[in-house]
Amino acid sequence: MSHLIDDTHDPARRSWVATAHGSEFPIQNLPLGVFSPPGGRPRGGVAIGDMILDLSLAARSGLLAGPAKLAAEAASGRELNALLGLGAGPRRALRRRLSELLTDRSPDRPEVETWLYPTARCELHLPCAIGDYTDFYAGIHHALNVGRQFRPDSPLLPNYKHVPIGYHGRASSVRVSGAAVRRPNGQRRAPDAEAPTFGPAQRLDLELELGVWIGPGNALGEPIAIGRAADHIAGLCLLNDWSARDLQAWEYQPLGPFLAKNFMTTVSPWIVTAEALAPFRTAQPARPAGDPRPLPYLWDETDQASGAFALELEVLIASEQMRRRGSPPHRLGRGPATNLYWTVAQMAAHHTSGGCDLRPGDLFGTGTISTPDEAGVGSLLELTRGGQRPVSLPTGETRTFLQDGDELILAGWARAEGYVPIGFGPCRGVVIPAAAPAPAAACAP
Ligand code: CA
Repeated sequence: MSHLIDDTHDPARRSWVATAHGSEFPIQNLPLGVFSPPGGRPRGGVAIGDMILDLSLAARSGLLAGPAKLAAEAASGRELNALLGLGAGPRRALRRRLSELLTDRSPDRPEVETWLYPTARCELHLPCAIGDYTDFYAGIHHALNVGRQFRPDSPLLPNYKHVPIGYHGRASSVRVSGAAVRRPNGQRRAPDAEAPTFGPAQRLDLELELGVWIGPGNALGEPIAIGRAADHIAGLCLLNDWSARDLQAWEYQPLGPFLAKNFMTTVSPWIVTAEALAPFRTAQPARPAGDPRPLPYLWDETDQASGAFALELEVLIASEQMRRRGSPPHRLGRGPATNLYWTVAQMAAHHTSGGCDLRPGDLFGTGTISTPDEAGVGSLLELTRGGQRPVSLPTGETRTFLQDGDELILAGWARAEGYVPIGFGPCRGVVIPAAAPAPAAACAP
């Protein structure tokens, strides 16, 4: 069980790290990531307030033992795949021990203080070497909003409520928050044109998603049962599936997205663990009357009772002009993560149901998460109704799709009555101009 509530969630617990309380990373969070301290090599770390605790130093100390030490050792290198492969037991042991060491009553503060670096002086990296990345399409209001633009009478295709729709994405171009987002070049055909053209994407968009980090995974040919699927979810992050709508519209049939989405995906740097998220588990919203009950391999009562997450997600934009003026980012939308039609456990069960193996450090995107109304839509395609209705920024600028120089920021908080809220840390990227297209090959003489 990854969702036990214990002393580490006690809202009264405070850390001696002064900036922890009230931040996205209070002692109740303790998310996992990979960082380089000034002049140092990448290694695993844990965020606490505005500091990062070095897990390679923790592993070498005499203050950890047993499974907690095993977990810290597995996190001492430049990626956390080995730690995620250990499953929830060692991860929870490490969390419990670090929580003790960081709590304001800890007698070991003097030694643990030597494991901390100011985050502002560190470089953050992707937390795992991502073997495979899969993007789902479980945000039902996104599917409806987009479907209505193309098929007003039947926005959802007949399979949507039976099968978690997804496609295999591109792992090589996943980057950590802060990396510049180069506008892709690509092929598209204007609606009134006969022939396609090649050039910088003109309808560059974001997609607000949750990222799901996979834990132990399964052997080829041995599906993960829905009742065990939660054991394979190591934690969550924020994920922006940058999308070039003009490329997508031309290329997606019949096999789905390709270059429209493979140029870049941005994730927030920290894995907010399944353990940290335990108090924020909530019931999967009941399916509307008349919706089909999923097939048995996708249905588990415990998962339905606690397989969703009480998260509030935000999309913010800061144009170059706004940043120059020092204006705060402008919120484009805010909404709950419960607007997903399938749970992350159902995604994992479905992904493996045909025999496909998941490996530690694999990444899922949930699909764009939008609200049924306009308060929290997760893409400009929806917000501007396909570019028909521009949004205004505080500077008087307007946007239908993203322009060069725009910074896009995703933010997320987990909140529940009686618990200390925890955050994800930002998932941000600035759009930079497209590269000059590769020159055409010279003709052979
Ligand atoms: Ca997507």
